[in-house]
Amino acid sequence: MKSKARIVIIGAGIVGCSTAYHLSKLGWSDIVVIEQGPLFETGGSTSHAPGLVFQTNPARTMCVLSQETVKLYSNLELDGQACYYPVGSMEVAWTPERLEELKRRVGVGTSYGLNAGLITTNEALDHNPLLSDKILGAMFVEKDGIAKAVRAAEAMSTSQITKESVDFYEFTKVTNINSINGRVTSVETDKGLIETDMVLSTAGIWGPKIGRMVGITVPQRAMQHCYAKTIPLKELEGQTEEVTHPVLRHQDKAMYFRQQEDVYGIGSYNHPALPVSANELLDYEMAPVSPSIKSFTPEHFEAGRVDTGDLLPVLKDIELTYKINGIFSFTIDGFPILGEWPQVKGFWSAEAVWITHAGGVGKIMAQWLDSGDPGIDTHEMDVARFHPHNMDEKYIDIRASQNYVEVYDIIHPAQQMEEPRNIKLSPFHKSQKELKASFIESGGWERPNWFDSNKMLLEKYDIASFLRSGWENKEWSPMAIVEHLQTRLNGGIFDLTSFTKVEIKGEGSLDFLNYLASNDLDKPVGKVIYTSLLTESGGVKCDLTITRLGEERFLVVTGGVMGLHDLNWIASKLPVGSDIEINDLSESMTAIGVWGPKSRDLLQKVSSVDLSNSAFPYMSSKMMSINGIECLALRISYVGELGWEIYGPMSKGQALWDSIYGQSGEFDIVPVGLAAFESLRVEKGYRLWGNELSTEYTPYESGIGFAVKLNKGDFIGRDALIEHNRAGLKKILTCMTLDKQGVVVMGKEPIMFGNKCIGYVTSAAYGYSVDKGIIYGYLPVEYADEGRKLDVIYFGENYKVTVSAEPIFDPKNFRLKT
Ligand code: FAD
Repeated sequence: MKSKARIVIIGAGIVGCSTAYHLSKLGWSDIVVIEQGPLFETGGSTSHAPGLVFQTNPARTMCVLSQETVKLYSNLELDGQACYYPVGSMEVAWTPERLEELKRRVGVGTSYGLNAGLITTNEALDHNPLLSDKILGAMFVEKDGIAKAVRAAEAMSTSQITKESVDFYEFTKVTNINSINGRVTSVETDKGLIETDMVLSTAGIWGPKIGRMVGITVPQRAMQHCYAKTIPLKELEGQTEEVTHPVLRHQDKAMYFRQQEDVYGIGSYNHPALPVSANELLDYEMAPVSPSIKSFTPEHFEAGRVDTGDLLPVLKDIELTYKINGIFSFTIDGFPILGEWPQVKGFWSAEAVWITHAGGVGKIMAQWLDSGDPGIDTHEMDVARFHPHNMDEKYIDIRASQNYVEVYDIIHPAQQMEEPRNIKLSPFHKSQKELKASFIESGGWERPNWFDSNKMLLEKYDIASFLRSGWENKEWSPMAIVEHLQTRLNGGIFDLTSFTKVEIKGEGSLDFLNYLASNDLDKPVGKVIYTSLLTESGGVKCDLTITRLGEERFLVVTGGVMGLHDLNWIASKLPVGSDIEINDLSESMTAIGVWGPKSRDLLQKVSSVDLSNSAFPYMSSKMMSINGIECLALRISYVGELGWEIYGPMSKGQALWDSIYGQSGEFDIVPVGLAAFESLRVEKGYRLWGNELSTEYTPYESGIGFAVKLNKGDFIGRDALIEHNRAGLKKILTCMTLDKQGVVVMGKEPIMFGNKCIGYVTSAAYGYSVDKGIIYGYLPVEYADEGRKLDVIYFGENYKVTVSAEPIFDPKNFRLKT
């Protein structure tokens, strides 16, 4: 065994093999893959997966990863045998609700580049004559199919390029990972030690065990999952091809099916979650059948057995042969776990990855390891997304189990998890409850979505034409309309406690931050600066505001959910041995936004600081005492109105709320929740990171080029921006309005030019002030000219949209009718 390696990859399942292969293709050598079982049927989850690939996914990156995977597997072969069978897929509808949902899924698939369409019952039966004619229709997706994962792993690993750069050690177990000063130094195995400063764990269900070797909780849970095969069917007699029927999903009953030669494979999620703790996982040689298989539990398959007979009548009461409870991983949010852990330099994970995504994941992991940039927006799956409360074992159990049982459910994008809740509460949470707030969870925080205490406003405004029905009415309340309008008319009080607030101070702080930021931070003390932080390739890694509190002291404020991601990015750039301090003040500071035309009147009532334009200009900050509570006030708002954000001590949060809210009645200013916040921001054209902003687009493409100062000196991403400018814009974030008044869409819908999908909706909202449905999306520049007519498809219906100048809302032109 080698004693040194450039990287040690733990696990030769499909993910480890795919990453090693892609690293070889990037020219890496000196790669070691350690596998506790035999190659390539290792006994991990890959060995038992029937290999169904459904590319459609509500998350765009996941869908792109599956498309990359299909491309990769389709080009692989082992001993003349294919590694991928593109037979297509059918997701069938058993209920009218599912049929509607499939229309939405067709839209999502189209948005992300799939060839997906709705087909009739008869068309579905043409594809698969074994289906019951009780189905109401199906979604058919071209190029979905069956992956032979073990074959693909072997094909990649025995390719010439991999053979030259990778050493595989089978029947070798990683027993420990050593690190010094938070950096990986070596890997211990039962066959010896390998020095390395880079470890990638692709250990699948064993991922948490490997994480523990470096003191990291990997928030995933191994789950048992029932899978069985039928005896040969006489209807398939003589069938010797691997697969010819499209792969099949019966989501109304949480099941999937595949034909394999003359038998059918049946998978069922239709049972309670059966988590397996990491300690229960057996070593290869100890496992009776395989370490990722437990004994089949017929009681958990019973409901599925009955449902199978309903969907595929020839399978009714059929005898089953191969029967397993296979084990694979589920995470707290349904996304894989990818990237380098901020806690230990050189320790990377690529876990909880399905066969469906493993080809693409291997590719981006290799790119990420090679250049520090995965080349695609990975924020949903990045290890940096986890908050400390996400690492709690009970939390992991509850969330992973829920994700298992809901895997095929129809989930509204605004649907909230029921538990665990109330993890982080604003100091004035009790007051919000008294105001009958409806809460949503974000980064562990309970944030008001709307307040039923605003019901009296329903009489004040003419909202009849804004009322909703159907899908867009779910997880929504008309309170969102009146809170929006009341903010525009007078003002709203917003709970911003969940924001991440980070103090950065010490000698060199200005230079450090200025090298990260695209805007110029060398501004007078007191200035508030909006800026993006870029990747080397010029993509927007973070967007945030930085307030200069002193010569070498700054307050960075960023959104709640992504705040930790931003904080990790900043911390990762701090030079080793630097004296600069990075203090996360999020848990000790509350924040309240007072936004709207009368916000000055309200705040002037509770503070003696002069709030006039000349004394307290836009994008500046001042200390302010509110009823004796020392606060920092920033003159900024995220809704396109006059306003301030007030930051005060968490311990005095209730008193601060009482002071501000207590005076708000005089000005008809009301507490406002996130639902209104969203429509206010979209109306004003403010970008949201994760929707409009991502590492895949530069600030110029995203329309925030105004906050880039190329002449200020060097900063991360500057060279790439200059290069982008030279090449010219190809795509641009574009604002569109729906031609038909009263129509609202929800986001992720395809934007069409004729029959061609040219983009998808990044954010959507109804602009109640302007009485228009508004959408944003990246369009090729040739389609982004003002006045251009396009279509957006929502639940199978085409709606005309017009490219519009932005922002759609401008307070100077606004006259509200009440
Ligand atoms: P694995 O294949 O488990 O590989 C991890 C490897 O790490 C193992 O070989 C293990 O031996 C090795 N290892 C662990 N610890 C150590 C150590 N300490 N030292 C050395 N080696 C170690 N996905 C789909 O996309 N489509 C499907 O249809 C599908 N159906 C499934 C049905 C079943 C019954 C099961 C079980 C899974 C299914 N999956 C499916 C999920 C899919 O199989 C997995 O998500 C995927 O195979 C995980 O790949 P991996 O490489 O991460 O893990």
